[in-house]
Amino acid sequence: MDLEAIDRAADIMRGARHVIALTGAGISVPSGIPDFRSDDGLWRHDDPMDVASLRAFCVDPGRFYDWFRPLLERLQAAQPNPAHLALAALERVGMLKALITQNIDGLHQRAGSHEVYELHGHLRSATCLRCDRQVPAAPLLEQVRWSEIPRCGCGGLFKLDVVLFDELLPRGLFWLAQSALETCDALIVAGTALEVAPACEMPLAALRHGAHLIIVNRSETYLDERADVVLREDVAEVLPAIVERVKHKA
Ligand code: ZN
Repeated sequence: MDLEAIDRAADIMRGARHVIALTGAGISVPSGIPDFRSDDGLWRHDDPMDVASLRAFCVDPGRFYDWFRPLLERLQAAQPNPAHLALAALERVGMLKALITQNIDGLHQRAGSHEVYELHGHLRSATCLRCDRQVPAAPLLEQVRWSEIPRCGCGGLFKLDVVLFDELLPRGLFWLAQSALETCDALIVAGTALEVAPACEMPLAALRHGAHLIIVNRSETYLDERADVVLREDVAEVLPAIVERVKHKA
């Protein structure tokens, strides 16, 4: 690990009043959830746009669930890893004000984070596409595991409350995240290569307002040159190391 860079990141955070984190699939890879944009193999054969868009789901929900089922199994088996726990610890000591995530796995909350903006939704509930009834997702996920297609009493399809590939982000949530970014003085980007809009553009709002930027990601991002600290290392090692130093020197 680059200890000097970890020290610099800890110094920035200790000097900040309002730290925000933005996380992506990379933070859950150590929990066993593959990043389906990477070359894991499970999703190599399908273009997500063909199966995981709202349009595709409405036309052929069975195909969507066939695609989704292996991911669901990984999601249900996953446990928070030290990177999730480190961010939860930062919130507990009052340093991290909010966490914006592109992940639908709910692992930040399970690690103990409270102020979490889930840009792409979550698996806790589902909504009928015909009558808008919202229900807890757990029984439906059980149906999905048994290759049934969950339907509402009205006959409509239930859709999990996740944002599919051709859907817009929930507006309210987007603005909450945006305003958190505009008021932060330090932003940690962890486990995302900043390739997916609109999350990839969110750090720009923080930079425009003069915030420091810390990037922890295995691969390079388009904002590396504008970051104060870049750590191309394992999030599950680096984030706990930064948090240890922040607490130690506080
Ligand atoms: Zn309905």
